[in-house]
Amino acid sequence: MEGWTIEQLEGKDVFVIEGQVAIPNNYSAGIVGSRFLVELRDNCRIMGIRCPKCDRCYVPPKSTCMECFGQLTEFVEVGKSGTLLTFTVDHHTTPVQTASPPNVYGIIKLDGADTGLLHLIGEVDGKAVKSGMRLEAVFNEERRGSILDIKYFRPAEAG
Ligand SMILES: [Zn+2]
Repeated sequence: MEGWTIEQLEGKDVFVIEGQVAIPNNYSAGIVGSRFLVELRDNCRIMGIRCPKCDRCYVPPKSTCMECFGQLTEFVEVGKSGTLLTFTVDHHTTPVQTASPPNVYGIIKLDGADTGLLHLIGEVDGKAVKSGMRLEAVFNEERRGSILDIKYFRPAEAG
């Protein structure tokens, strides 16, 4: 089909596409999220938060338990290593990506945690990634209080 002219549109449906403009904004990470990010930035520590009633450890930490709805305040350090629960390989380029495709995204259950943390997986070919594999965090040299202070998770050294 050749390009349409205004005259060719007469009598045809003209669609109006709704859209939204992205607007830069700031929001508070809150008390729990701020503690998590400060520990990543200053100490390369990955913090979870434990429910004293359910004994469930959330990573990243949240202020309310998903099981009993209790308020959570007990921070605990979890391991920098964990087990890959599931993953996907993304071959698309988007403006919000910090890394060039293909990117491997995984949900990692860190040692001591009961929930999965979504993050990038690096230093491995996407075809070699397997659920159940052991991964370890690689921290950025320069950290600024962001989830990307963890550069990515890579396959853990054996032993
Ligand atoms: Zn609970």
